[in-house]
Amino acid sequence: MNSKVRVRFAPSPTGFFHIGGARTALFNWLYARHRGGTFVLRIEDTDKKRDSEESVRVLIDGLKWLGLHWDEGPELGGPCAPYFQSERQHIYDSYLKRLRNQDQVYERDGAVWFKVSGKPAVIHDEIRGDVTRLEEKDFVIVRSDGSPVFHFVNVVDDIDMGITHVIRGEDHLSNSSKHVELFEALGAPTPVFAHIPLILKTVGGGKMSKRDQGALVEDYKARRFLPEAVRNYLCLLGWSPKDDREILPIEEIITLFDLKQISKNNARFDEKKLAHMNGHYLRNLSPETFVDFCKPALQSAGLVSEKTDPAYLAQVLNACQEKVRDVESLPNFCVHFFADNFPFDEAARGKIFKQEGPLVRIREFLEALPSLSDFTEGSLEALVVALSEVHGCKTGDYIHPIRFAVSGQSVGVGFYRLLHILGKDRVIKRLKEFT
Ligand code: GLU
Repeated sequence: MNSKVRVRFAPSPTGFFHIGGARTALFNWLYARHRGGTFVLRIEDTDKKRDSEESVRVLIDGLKWLGLHWDEGPELGGPCAPYFQSERQHIYDSYLKRLRNQDQVYERDGAVWFKVSGKPAVIHDEIRGDVTRLEEKDFVIVRSDGSPVFHFVNVVDDIDMGITHVIRGEDHLSNSSKHVELFEALGAPTPVFAHIPLILKTVGGGKMSKRDQGALVEDYKARRFLPEAVRNYLCLLGWSPKDDREILPIEEIITLFDLKQISKNNARFDEKKLAHMNGHYLRNLSPETFVDFCKPALQSAGLVSEKTDPAYLAQVLNACQEKVRDVESLPNFCVHFFADNFPFDEAARGKIFKQEGPLVRIREFLEALPSLSDFTEGSLEALVVALSEVHGCKTGDYIHPIRFAVSGQSVGVGFYRLLHILGKDRVIKRLKEFT
């Protein structure tokens, strides 16, 4: 018998790609890679009302974006199209015939009903342990309109595709006793089950729904998150390397990943942690890649055009790379490098300019600037230190108001770097206008 692992991701196309589904796909993919097995993509599109080409495309784009490539499929739309249940009716017909011949089904009101065995089934689950369940009632496997029911086609395909491990969301645990009945009736070995815990909303109880912020893979793609960061974060929703590390290369996760380590407890979604991880992955990009990755966001925000000096753009973005957590916040973060009419953070203004002092500090700095022979980070720092000594105050008394006056913000890239990149003329102009 072939002992190779074969797993599948079997989404029903719903029009969006929920991160819960993405995490299921990821765990299947990781397990296949860990065991040197095969990862199959099967689109469960038997519900004609809901399914559309567009909803399949969302799933496929999301999987590709996350780098979760599947290993086989019919040669339809390309070398590796997924399997579509809508194209496999002949297979379901032949399995149904077999159940009929074995007298395991009957018809009532036009629907085909499956006769349960009445025996309790042991469901072996790698995560939840063994559970014994009794499926008490017969159930429909083909509706009166001829369309096959999920339980039936799901099991037939798992048999037909030689699936060895069924890794899926915990919401399907209650279906598995029906599935075990069908596997047995069809004379096939029951696969190993692994029902993975739910993903809860960031606050409060309850499962994350498609309406919750951060729930859809396609949104992360549109918001220009790094797929490696999203994938790394999803790995931690129910799995951990059993040390304190959270940021791990995918190759290492593949080596370490096993079903036994998946937690029984529900995982809580934390978008802040994901953004933090994204920031880490952004910092790890080469400076050139970071520029290429961010440029489109600055272009669509109207800050950068084909005329922008590439060296200047690189200088600004290299300074930002250390600080930002996501690309979508970048235009606001660096607008003052590209435009003179940048917005001022009024809450920060209120805090910094409570008294006259800060304006006086700005004027002292302005007066001293002409004496500065060069405009480097080092000379600017020396100037601020010298001024603070002369006037008996802290360097921060200069840094905070000056930063605000030239950038409109209380946070941003390193202070001396900010001044250096803006250049002497712009710094003087902005400070004069401000005071
Ligand atoms: N089509 C089912 C779903 O999207 C798949 C269930 C399974 O993985 O067995 O929930």
